[in-house]
Amino acid sequence: MRNISQFTHGTYDVLIVGGGINGAAIAHMAARNGLKVALLEKNDFASGTSSRSTKLIHGGLRYLETFDLDLVRESLRERSFLLRDAPHLVKPLSFIIPVYRGDRKPLWMMRLGVWLYDRLAGKYTIGKHRFIPRDELLGLMPGLKGEGLLGGVSYYDAQMDDARLVLENVLSAQARGAHVANYVEVRSFLKKDGKAAGVLAFDTIGEREFEISARKVVCAVGPWTNLLMHKEEGNVPPLVRTTKGIHVVYQGQISDHALIIPTTQDKRVFFVIPWMGNSLIGTTDTDYTADPDRVAADQEDIDYLFRELRRVFFEGTFKKEKIITIFAGLRPLVHKEGEPAKISRDHVIKQAYSGIIYVMGGKYTTYRKIAEDCLKEIVRSKPLVDTRVGFPVYGSGEITESAPDVAGQNGLNVDVVKYLMDLYGTRYKDVLRLTQNNPALKEPLCTCSPAIKAQVVYAIQTEMAVKDEDIIKRRLSLVYRPCRSGQCVREIQRFIAR
Ligand code: FAD
Repeated sequence: MRNISQFTHGTYDVLIVGGGINGAAIAHMAARNGLKVALLEKNDFASGTSSRSTKLIHGGLRYLETFDLDLVRESLRERSFLLRDAPHLVKPLSFIIPVYRGDRKPLWMMRLGVWLYDRLAGKYTIGKHRFIPRDELLGLMPGLKGEGLLGGVSYYDAQMDDARLVLENVLSAQARGAHVANYVEVRSFLKKDGKAAGVLAFDTIGEREFEISARKVVCAVGPWTNLLMHKEEGNVPPLVRTTKGIHVVYQGQISDHALIIPTTQDKRVFFVIPWMGNSLIGTTDTDYTADPDRVAADQEDIDYLFRELRRVFFEGTFKKEKIITIFAGLRPLVHKEGEPAKISRDHVIKQAYSGIIYVMGGKYTTYRKIAEDCLKEIVRSKPLVDTRVGFPVYGSGEITESAPDVAGQNGLNVDVVKYLMDLYGTRYKDVLRLTQNNPALKEPLCTCSPAIKAQVVYAIQTEMAVKDEDIIKRRLSLVYRPCRSGQCVREIQRFIAR
């Protein structure tokens, strides 16, 4: 549960503004290094860009095109660290790229690309690339047009649950002594001798303003960076360039493999990815300069994705009526001119004259490295704990029990237990513990997912969920599943009201 009174005692070594993946990881790493840490998020954790990504932990095959080889190599290394440190949330996934006659990139180039990708991964490789003959490809991807299809290539990357990865970093930070809270907005910065010495915060639930002292302040506010920076540093050039990316969650999974489709309109690629039994389709990349709080998909974004889908799939394979949900997010790219898709996804940590440290750019995949570089800026010459050898999140670790055994002992369906193990890792036991004194919490929440009622109690008591959408969107990911009855939403609202 949220505890706001904890913030008013003493001075923090570091206060982090923004509870997306970067803020959460910085808080986690700072606490791991023994610092006194505060983390504040104005909405819910991961409610910004960090729950609206393509949900890939990837080197970025397409960055080979811009010869961003160092970024690809670094991301591939971080990918292997994440598969080790969050095994329940990050899983290998195979990707297929179909190639048609007349495509911008011919088959030989694609074959070279996936070969190079695996070479760059070196010892961190997670599966071998290969050429897929045309007929095999048509069997693997039902609905794909055969006319002009020359064949394809496949390679491996990884898929993650983005919102839960943020949350588990937040919970890890908290478990190591950090004070964390969602629904607390930073309104301005406190100053001592011209340097930032804390923040003026506003609890949006309790509607109360209060001051927090800190020796160092980090702004990890992603797309909100320019807004906060202008408030503090005056009329300086923008640090980030925000570009919008939308995703459509589509009913039904067309394949066990992810598909990469090169686009014709703007020379990009987009994905069709298996996601919770359905398909995640996206994304777009267009400049966005309006209020980050109001970002949303528009009709042109959706039409773009369906137009490009129709190029490679038979008419009728994808129908707009089967869209479950649509979401939009903003990339906080390091500010640079040029085509959005061509801007590097590298990160920059910058300490301003005020002493505030701004974190910009980067990818989800490289969050450990971003946190490490930020910590180096905070502690300067002090040595850091080496997190390359391990930076485990809250539920990581080996699950030694078998799902059928646990299901038998607890009177639960084995699929429910497997689902709990996938979602919470070793912490699935904490959820089941709630059912010991209250067996009614073993009941299903709804027919739309394997979720049980105990998870709602756990989300409120342990995972700091405050509003129903915190649970629906980011704790249980129910938003990605079609629900006809709406029973899950009503149940969650009942628990929250209680
Ligand atoms: P955010 O997640 O936006 O967090 C910033 C937080 O700061 C927000 O939660 C916000 O509410 C909070 N905040 C703002 N102002 C205040 C304030 N005044 N007080 C308190 N809190 C405040 N990367 C990958 O590696 N793989 C992918 O597949 C991938 N796909 C992507 C797809 C899209 C469409 C987009 C847009 C990005 C994708 N990325 C991907 C990039 C990745 O998602 C981002 O780099 C990352 O999520 C940025 O995290 P962040 O913590 O910097 O920002």
